[in-house]
Order: sequence, then C-alpha cells, then structure tokens
Amino acid sequence: MSCNEYEGGNMSDTKKHTTHRITLIPGDGIGPEVTGAVVRILEAAGATTGVAFEWESFAAGAQAFETHREYIPKELLASIEKNRVALKGPVTTPIGGGFASINVTLRKTFELFANFRPIKNLPGLKTRYPDVDLLIVRENTHGEYVGIEHEVVPGVVESIKIITEKASTRVSKFAFEYARKHGRKKINAVHKANIMKMSDGLFLACARKVGKDFPEITYTESIIDNTCMQLVMNPYQYDMLLMENLYGDIVSDLCAAFVGGLGLVPGANLGAECAIFEAVHGSAPDIAGKDMANPTALLQSAVLMLHHINEAATADLVQKALEHVYSEGKSLTRDVGGKGGTIAFSEAVVAALGTTAG
Ligand code: ATP
Repeated sequence: MSCNEYEGGNMSDTKKHTTHRITLIPGDGIGPEVTGAVVRILEAAGATTGVAFEWESFAAGAQAFETHREYIPKELLASIEKNRVALKGPVTTPIGGGFASINVTLRKTFELFANFRPIKNLPGLKTRYPDVDLLIVRENTHGEYVGIEHEVVPGVVESIKIITEKASTRVSKFAFEYARKHGRKKINAVHKANIMKMSDGLFLACARKVGKDFPEITYTESIIDNTCMQLVMNPYQYDMLLMENLYGDIVSDLCAAFVGGLGLVPGANLGAECAIFEAVHGSAPDIAGKDMANPTALLQSAVLMLHHINEAATADLVQKALEHVYSEGKSLTRDVGGKGGTIAFSEAVVAALGTTAG
C-alpha cells in the first residue's frame, strides 16, 4: 500500500498520522470539477482524522495527447504501478472512431478484473425506489470490451466477444467471497446464454462452479432482458448481481436511476495488485464547466477507496457528512432536485465534517 506513517511533531502523541500517495486522474468534461470537489473534501476530512494525501496528478486521453503525444502517459502508468491505488475522474471516449477508451485500457493494463458498484439510497433524497441496496459485480476486462473489430468485406463488420474461464472464474470468486465476508445472501448471474450458448454458457458454468464452494449463498440466474424488466418492477428481489462486461455497463446505468441517477453511484475497479476508483458516470459534456456536476458519485467512490487503504474512520466521517447534507437537502445539485452548484455542495459537505465528527 502506498502509505508511510509518521508521528507529527506538534500533534497529539496518541493520534496516528498517515500519508497516502494516490494517483489522481482528474479527467475531462465534468472530471476536473468533481475531482476538485472530492480532493477538497478528503483533505478536510483527513485533517480531522490525521490522514494526509499526496496526489500525483496526470492528464489522460485527448488532453494528454496534446502535451505528451500519448493518450496514457508512461508516467501515469508508472505512478499507478507504484502507488497501487488511483482516484479517477471520467475521460471522454470518442464515439465511432478515434483512440481506444482510456477507462477500458487502464482496466485491462492493470488487470482490474472486478468492477464493483453499490447501488444504495442516500437519506432524505426522494427517488424512484426507497431502501434499495443492490451490489453489481461486473467482469471488467473481457466480453465485447476486448475491442477486436474488423471489416470482413465492405459493409460487413465483425466484432469479437471474448469470454474466458479464467476471467469468469476470478470475477465470480470475487463476488462470492465478497458476499461471504459481508453477509450478503444471494447472487444472481445475468446472461444471454439462450442465444450466446458457448460464451455466456461458459460464464455461467464458471459462476456455478465457484458457487458450489459457497453453499450458504443462494445462487440464481436470469436472462438479461428479463432481468431489466424484473429490476424495474421490483429491485428488492435481488441482492448481488454478477455479470459480464457489457451487461454490467448497461445494468449499472439502469440501477443508478433507482437511487437518483448517475450523479450518485460509485465504483471500484479491483485487481490483485492495483485498484482504480471511479464513478459510474462518464464525462457528461452537456454540463461540463457550469458548476452543475454532482460530485457525490466520485465522493462515494473515494469512500470505497478509503476503506481499501484501511482508513475506515476517514471513510465513515466523509460518508456521514455526505449523508448529513442529503438529509438536510439544502445544498443539493440540480440532478437530484436541488439548486446548488458543485462548489456549494462540496463546501456544505466540508462544513458537515465538523458537525458529524466524533
Ligand atoms: P459513458 O458512456 O462515457 O460512461 P454515460 O453513458 O454514463 O457515459 P454520462 O456522460 O456520464 O453518460 O452522463 C449521461 C447524463 O447524465 C449526462 O448528460 C448528465 O446530464 C447526467 N450526469 C452524469 N453524471 C452526472 C453528474 N456527476 N452530475 C450530474 N449529472 C450527471
């Protein structure tokens, strides 16, 4: 882990003082606004709990190409490899051409095989459904996202979906081990194995095999199209959802709507060595630079990151302050029915750190 502990001279002897070195990718679109807000809140929280952050900040994507002639600068890759933990804002992926997705490339480079996305209501926020508590586990490195596409003859394009036993087994293991550790009761694997009999069939075979070692967890399966309808009819029937890459992308946005939209839902890309924490949403160019973006999704991703680096007290402090601001409902951003901007919202969270601390 990228941290070094030291005893601060002027501060209480009993308090632990830790510095974490973290790679930061502000991204583009609303990325710089939401990462700026999150860094501000984390530093304010850390000042209370004795945790400091050293941010190693890098551009990626089109921005990086302008200065480095590389979409993912070598220094950025070296920083993640060294620190093993990164906080990432969204980076725009050009549609229908241009460079390969930075998000996907980073996930593949560092073998961040499990994408973990908790879907949970925040207090005080009236949404489509109350009391949702769903966990989405998405395979993060294979499926349609391998990006193997070519033109067979003019007018015919082939896109290859890769499903492997290794990737399907490790993401299934992650899901079942998480369920066991955190007392979750059910895992439902989502598929289209009636049509993609071999590829989705292999994914299911791996999930079933792993599930046999976890008899206390109820394992079920459902077809992706039916699952979408079932989710909208009654999201409470599911506990954890396990699925391939593309299904996970689509179902994550669907489930975000249950709890207030894309501005809220966090994500973690987890591998054996490294982890990158990023929100479910993209760069939202329609609201970029307007002080309208909701930083909650990235802030909740940062809370997951704080748990990952064993800073539970700081994580709890930030989460409580966030929940306090939502309970009050006075400084919320427009996407969740408020009138506030990104900055006013983050300052309200900083102020709430003082209210909720201790
Ligand atoms: P991608 O495919 O790049 O992941 P996406 O399909 O998830 O992107 P976004 O660009 O993230 O799409 O967002 C879709 C819409 O949701 C945006 O146009 C914006 O209006 C809204 N949105 C997304 N994120 C936020 C946010 N943090 N705060 C407020 N609104 C947001």
